[in-house]
Amino acid sequence: MRRINQFLIENNLRISNNPCISPDFCLDWPALRAKLTAPSVKERPNTRFETADGQWVLLEDEATCDCAWKLLPRSKSGLAVLEDGIALGKGGFAFPATWENLLRLKNAVQEHDPGSTIFPTAGANLGRGTLGIGARFTTLHWPAVEWAMHALNLGVTANQNSIPRELVFDVDAMLDGKLDTVPFAFIGTSVPEGHQGQSVEGMSHGCVLSKLKTGFHRRRIAWSFNADHQPIGGKFDAREDALVRGCVLASYITFDLSPELAQTAAAADPRAWVTRHVPPDLIDRVRARVASAGLTLNDGEFATLLASVWPALAKMKRRDDKYRAAREAAFTTEIGRRYLRELSIDELPGLTTPETTAVMLSLCEALDMRIDFVAPAFGFQKNTPYPDNAELRGLIERQWAVCRAFDTSIGFHSGSGKSAENYAVMGAVTGGRLEIKTSGRYTYEMGVALSTSKNPSDAALWRDWYVFTIDMAIAGAFSSDATEQNMARAFISAALGPPPKNGTRLNPFDSPSSCRRALEALPPSPDYMFFFEYNFLFVLAAGGRPDKTAMGDHSPAGYGQRARFYSISAEARLNFAKAIAHYIVFLAATTGLVEANRCATAAARLDHYSSLDEMLAEI
Ligand SMILES: [Zn+2]
Repeated sequence: MRRINQFLIENNLRISNNPCISPDFCLDWPALRAKLTAPSVKERPNTRFETADGQWVLLEDEATCDCAWKLLPRSKSGLAVLEDGIALGKGGFAFPATWENLLRLKNAVQEHDPGSTIFPTAGANLGRGTLGIGARFTTLHWPAVEWAMHALNLGVTANQNSIPRELVFDVDAMLDGKLDTVPFAFIGTSVPEGHQGQSVEGMSHGCVLSKLKTGFHRRRIAWSFNADHQPIGGKFDAREDALVRGCVLASYITFDLSPELAQTAAAADPRAWVTRHVPPDLIDRVRARVASAGLTLNDGEFATLLASVWPALAKMKRRDDKYRAAREAAFTTEIGRRYLRELSIDELPGLTTPETTAVMLSLCEALDMRIDFVAPAFGFQKNTPYPDNAELRGLIERQWAVCRAFDTSIGFHSGSGKSAENYAVMGAVTGGRLEIKTSGRYTYEMGVALSTSKNPSDAALWRDWYVFTIDMAIAGAFSSDATEQNMARAFISAALGPPPKNGTRLNPFDSPSSCRRALEALPPSPDYMFFFEYNFLFVLAAGGRPDKTAMGDHSPAGYGQRARFYSISAEARLNFAKAIAHYIVFLAATTGLVEANRCATAAARLDHYSSLDEMLAEI
């Protein structure tokens, strides 16, 4: 048995209450195998599909959610189709839903039917216009995305998370306590990476099973899975093979060059450096290509830019070769091997200049890496509308002029919570050649779903969550760390609003107790900035404690906390699913990716559902 499965079973962390931690969707095959014909193991009828070997359906144990694949084979040799199979009688076979079996099934499915949409692909319009939907609550989240894709007839980036920042990149490293930490300046500390608890393979596996369980795959709408912000270079060199291995099911890779760029020292003599390190024919091609996009760079500027980005680009090329090789080793089909590329440059300081975008895109082109999306910095703040729409239009127009010349779409990072007018500008300027990346929004929507639920245990979870963010805000506001203090006070001030005109309000920053009095006087709501900013840290905080050492806890204490979200009521699940779907419909409508009538019809339908089953039955 895989070590992670042993750990999960010993601590009663089952897929039913803590999904997507293990790469497998069957933690205990001996136990499931022994009861495959018991009434508690259900055949999921929506999941039927076919390969050359025969008819498949998913079996799921209702108590643990451990899963198996059942095959009704065309020939008697079915037992060897996947690993660890057993004969079921009546000619059928069953196999555990392991990670290895999933990879083999992907290939078998796509060899049999290249148009299949069970697995994420780079097909249809996904490389031109899409919405990036961060899936922080995994199985609670995907069915709503499937509903939205079906209702809008729009394939999107239906699974997306940053690895290793949000997802555990390697469950063995996690068990060995070897996960690195990610600095979070706004709380003045570093938190273990993988702060949402699920692993990249577990997410990859879960999002595929979700498509089958809701029957979404029968709609034949292509969708993608984005391995977001794959860090290139710097300290990540040491584990790039592990990152590549874990992301093998991703059909879309975002390259984040900032680790290498941050450690690249400025060359004393950029021209001499470039002459020594960059092939001359490549320099000529890049210069000509930048000029063809209508931009002029003088030799000095060009050399300085090239010297600063070349080491990162060279490492990006090396990593890209590895992503490609991993897919070629695992899959035989063209559709199964293909992936989209995004170049993320919004992490660089300041606004991205059109010249930088042009140089980066032409370098990728010269290195034979087609870039489907590029993400320049537009100065976005998460969950805050861009204040000046005309100014935003100008910024996007200047970037779009470059992107169009390279046949590349624009990725808008930190895309949550912009105004309808902002999204309309993004859609109009790019003609729908864009991706809006959203993630934090959906954690907030869980807050909304719980805070409006009438179920007592939802209400208790909501209260604990809200109080956690208040405690974090107050501790931050009186921290000796200047950044942490400034950020916390800004979040608190935004929540409290301007002081009343008569000036009677006490200063909330006189003391922690006056700050607490001020915050506790507010009616609890997920709409305060401090809730939005601190909420995600609660999910894996040991015991739900607002304590820096409790965050991102991959022990049973952290996962026990995570389990609270997976036991929310049917009412909260419905609220959450509707909210996610509404937001996707809103994004599709305002960006113009889907025509207004269709969006309006979808939104109206959503409001009528009184149960999640009713909503999902329409997929
Ligand atoms: Zn980015």
